[in-house]
Amino acid sequence: MNANNNAAQPANQPANQAANQPANLNNIFNNLGVNFQSLVASTLRQYPRRMPVQNQGSIAYRRSRFPFPSVTDLANWALANAIKRELVALQTSVVVLRRTVDVDEETSTQVHASLKQAAESILKLERLLQIILDAIPIEARPNAASAVKAQKVFDVAELLEKILLNCEYHDFISAMQVNRTFAQAFRRSARIQQVMGLRAITDGSPFSPVANAFFVSRGCMIRLEDHHRYGHQVQDNEVVVSAIFNGSSPFEEHPLPRISERFRDTLVCQPPIKQMRVRAGCCEDPLFRRRNANNLQPHPPSLTSLADRDEEMQQLHSIDSETGITLGQVLDETRRLRDEHRYCPDAYPGLHRDDGTVDVHVHFEAILQLPRDDPVLLANRRAKASFDFEQKDFAAKDQKIQQYIAAKQSARDNGEPIPTLQEFEARSLVTNVEDHDDAEASNDDQLEQ
Ligand SMILES: [Zn+2]
Repeated sequence: MNANNNAAQPANQPANQAANQPANLNNIFNNLGVNFQSLVASTLRQYPRRMPVQNQGSIAYRRSRFPFPSVTDLANWALANAIKRELVALQTSVVVLRRTVDVDEETSTQVHASLKQAAESILKLERLLQIILDAIPIEARPNAASAVKAQKVFDVAELLEKILLNCEYHDFISAMQVNRTFAQAFRRSARIQQVMGLRAITDGSPFSPVANAFFVSRGCMIRLEDHHRYGHQVQDNEVVVSAIFNGSSPFEEHPLPRISERFRDTLVCQPPIKQMRVRAGCCEDPLFRRRNANNLQPHPPSLTSLADRDEEMQQLHSIDSETGITLGQVLDETRRLRDEHRYCPDAYPGLHRDDGTVDVHVHFEAILQLPRDDPVLLANRRAKASFDFEQKDFAAKDQKIQQYIAAKQSARDNGEPIPTLQEFEARSLVTNVEDHDDAEASNDDQLEQ
């Protein structure tokens, strides 16, 4: 144990006397944050002028005189931290309030009153905080020694790995920069490197290490999709890996994301894909037939068979890598094609900028065939079913409103009171189809007159 224990803890005293102490503060403390003012007032009324003295040896004395706010040291520590947060919030509002002093006289008076109140609250909270901290035996408080223990946890690579694997990608990046222990955890953990796309995974359901807020906010859009952007068929057991690096807008070409060297080797997909087909959107879009400048009309996809799809994709050039396509490759190829197609003669008018150059959208795609029970396919199917359901639901609602509108117009034309939707629904439950047809017929008659 550590040296502090002996000074702080008489031998015959249990580490936590909470159970022996009056528990009346417990109830009050449970309400902290909701109504801390009355809490502070009642606390200090009960225990006035017993502010702890900051000299050694008095701790045991104080512990016997002051009640324990909670039955466990951990709860007290959490409580103390909650109060610290309240204090910070209060101090922040005091700073904000001070800025508004002297705006005009009346406001100023009010502000001064608020400031005085806040200052008192801060003082009371600080006292309360001290009381609670004193209730925690010194050996139970997080300190340099417990920090050493925490470090030991982090030193156990597996534990640190587990913690890190629960992080978001951008937390990975910041954690890597924290210190040597973290940096080493990244270097040593195969699993972390796989999640980050820096080491290949050999099997399993596909995912993109790049499909996260960190890269999306930098303009790298990589998706596993259940449809093909260019209208091609996609089978039930297929998923389209599509990539476009174009800043945040799909409609305008943006400067290419600046990706630092260490991310260039990030695999765009796990398990790695060895080939992606590349299209310059200006002239390799099968939805447009642009054999000559006179034919610029978009036309519906005519390539419906899978054989046609594969043939069309075969005609595109590709980027290849035996070890897996990386972020760096996609970026370089995007840059190259942007330059190559800047004056593309087949680009349609909408892609031309004011200076006559062409907005070039470079698309990458690969089609993966997966086992039918792959989680990605299951998720896609669920999403599609829910979309279909919503569409049907929307169509049904739309139809009902159309009928309601017809009923309202018919009522108006016949000089009858216009029904509410509820009335209309109640009526259509009892009205048979014949009556409905009659109503429509008479409506038509009137329109003809
Ligand atoms: Zn082109």
